[in-house]
Amino acid sequence: MANPETFYFTLPSGKRPDLFPLNEQKHPAYDWLTSNRARERGGAASDAIDTIVIHATAGYATQDAIDTWRRDGNVASAHWIIPDEDEPKHGNVVWATVAEAKAARHVRDTINVSETVLGEGSNVNNRSLGIEIVNTQDVEEYRDPFSVWQTTMTARVVLYAWAKYPKLKHVISHAKLDSTRRADPGKKFPWMEFREAVLNYSALPNKPAGG
Ligand SMILES: [Zn+2]
Repeated sequence: MANPETFYFTLPSGKRPDLFPLNEQKHPAYDWLTSNRARERGGAASDAIDTIVIHATAGYATQDAIDTWRRDGNVASAHWIIPDEDEPKHGNVVWATVAEAKAARHVRDTINVSETVLGEGSNVNNRSLGIEIVNTQDVEEYRDPFSVWQTTMTARVVLYAWAKYPKLKHVISHAKLDSTRRADPGKKFPWMEFREAVLNYSALPNKPAGG
């Protein structure tokens, strides 16, 4: 079974796609999260962003993640949420939850990036975008597979971001960045299929729900 601590690939320079549309919708909490759970990047997003981090929520629904982020004392957030197959938006849209121009806090700030594959650079949150996929990650009794649509849409978000941010290079799991504390998106996430969908530009829009 795949080890999420190995989930990583780079985007080949010179093969960046042209403008790649993304079927996203601003979540009702978008403005609040952008104002209260994100910060300035310390530079233009197009200069700062070179990394995209793949997460899973460990919950049953988009709202669980939103409620967690909104809880008093919490500082976490991410830029998108990919809904689960029993949610109305599954098969249709990705939730935009934080403005891309701002740094969400989806990875521990104190990670020393020079000790990771990212190499020297600023704080990982300042240089990255974060995608959360709604999935319970229950590994022992596996009841919540990632849907084909979820995997495809995660790839589409990466393609969208790659087309938009010229320095985007690293596609990495949270588990690889912070292996002592995190295992997401989990060993059941089909990383190789996801990687193929990105690198072959085969992430098709409008996959049927539940597919
Ligand atoms: Zn995570």
